[in-house]
Amino acid sequence: MIVVGAGLSGLTCALRLAESGVPVTVLEAADEVGGRARTLSVGRHPLDRGFQSLFLAYPRTARLLRDVGIRRRDLVPFDRGAVVHDGASWVRMSASPSGVMRFPAFSAGDVRRLAALASEVAAAPSARVLAGDERHATALEYLQGRGFTERAIDGFFRPLFGVITADRDLGSDAAYLRFLVQMMLRGPAVIPVEGHGMISRWAAARVRQLGGVVRMGARVAGIVTAPDDRGHARGVTVDGVGAVAGAAVVVATEAPAARNLLADLDRQCARALDVRPRGVTSLAYELDASFHSGRTIILNGEAETGPARIDLVCQESNLLPSAPADAGARLLATSVDGPDGGADPGALEEAMTALAGRWNPGFPWARCARLVEVIRQPWAQFAVPPGVRDALPGPQTAVGNVFIAGDVTAHPSIEGAVVAGERAARAAREMVAATRSSGGA
Ligand SMILES: Cc1cc2nc3c(=O)[nH]c(=O)nc-3n(C[C@H](O)[C@H](O)[C@H](O)COP(=O)(O)OP(=O)(O)OC[C@H]3O[C@@H](n4cnc5c(N)ncnc54)[C@H](O)[C@@H]3O)c2cc1C
Repeated sequence: MIVVGAGLSGLTCALRLAESGVPVTVLEAADEVGGRARTLSVGRHPLDRGFQSLFLAYPRTARLLRDVGIRRRDLVPFDRGAVVHDGASWVRMSASPSGVMRFPAFSAGDVRRLAALASEVAAAPSARVLAGDERHATALEYLQGRGFTERAIDGFFRPLFGVITADRDLGSDAAYLRFLVQMMLRGPAVIPVEGHGMISRWAAARVRQLGGVVRMGARVAGIVTAPDDRGHARGVTVDGVGAVAGAAVVVATEAPAARNLLADLDRQCARALDVRPRGVTSLAYELDASFHSGRTIILNGEAETGPARIDLVCQESNLLPSAPADAGARLLATSVDGPDGGADPGALEEAMTALAGRWNPGFPWARCARLVEVIRQPWAQFAVPPGVRDALPGPQTAVGNVFIAGDVTAHPSIEGAVVAGERAARAAREMVAATRSSGGA
């Protein structure tokens, strides 16, 4: 069986197939596994391709981590939560649910409303929360409808969920927001100790241990079907290599690549993959001195900062001890792209310098901070306004032995990718079982 793409969804799928004894080959175009959750090496530092965090409460991801051997001690929590700077002062958003409730932007009514929301989602199964009727409204409409004050929305929900969903307009469907609230209430956000790429590297190692193959630098150009075999897939073609045979194909790429690969095989599925991107631009800095302390993120809660806006700053070296102690500090500054795309990196650099001056006036930013990498991810996530998640394709395409994984069949997150990989593996296993019981190959 061939899996196209070695991001989290492709590797989860390959792992579950290999565990069931299905021979599997993963073909990855890049020279490393991990896709959007890959960790680069810049200088002597591990560097995530843009800031992200995973919630320890992500149910399927927690199982994946356990199965590939990543333990609780390998996951570093943001134990000091987040800090919001509203342009005038710092406000700490403690990591605990009761700490969140004490957030100063909340009126007494907002605290009651948040407590009610928390108690609604606390015990419910995540799948039910995601499928709830709230998915018909945007997060903003939902929060307004529940009576949250503008201050709570602009001071808390927008800076926090605007970054998590790469959408400061809070246009994602409200059931997805409720799912994220549930994840935050159930446990801390964490980063694997070697960066997010650790999950994929360990998953790929486990696939190989189980006899699977993971090949890098293998860009799949097309899926090969045989007209004399009821249009079933025979394998794929790989740039510079040629045909690679397989009993089935799982497409586990980002949506645009999946759309291209499936365009001639299943037009309806390809059309359903025509989702809108949410982009993120990240600036990675090396610092001679520490800009901020603690395992925390700094969220930009300023109402107006112009078109080049830094939304989140995190000194990742406070969390990841995997760089040598004398290698200085490393900081990621994240900017959520606007509707017209990402801001010019030069303008973002200026915005970061200005922000550093406002946030930490004594810090010699110009002297201490060196920009080492600009990471543009126009396809960081896909937008999930109301209706979009309902229209996403399932794992089965119109071709019996071609399946689709990728977060785009679930929701735009690490957990979405893992869920999608598991679903595709289940569908592919069922096909194998059906073929065997009907006496096929
Ligand atoms: C900056 C950023 C911040 C994020 N923040 C968070 C967060 O805080 N929390 C969270 O839960 N999620 C976050 N996400 C989302 C999360 O990282 C993704 O949802 C998840 O990693 C998607 O995994 P995937 O396997 O579906 O896709 P990908 O990771 O995109 O994997 C697809 C793979 O397919 C490969 N590929 C593509 N075309 C071909 C081809 N033709 N042949 C072979 N290989 C191919 C690609 O190279 C890639 O490796 C963030 C993402 C980004 C980029």
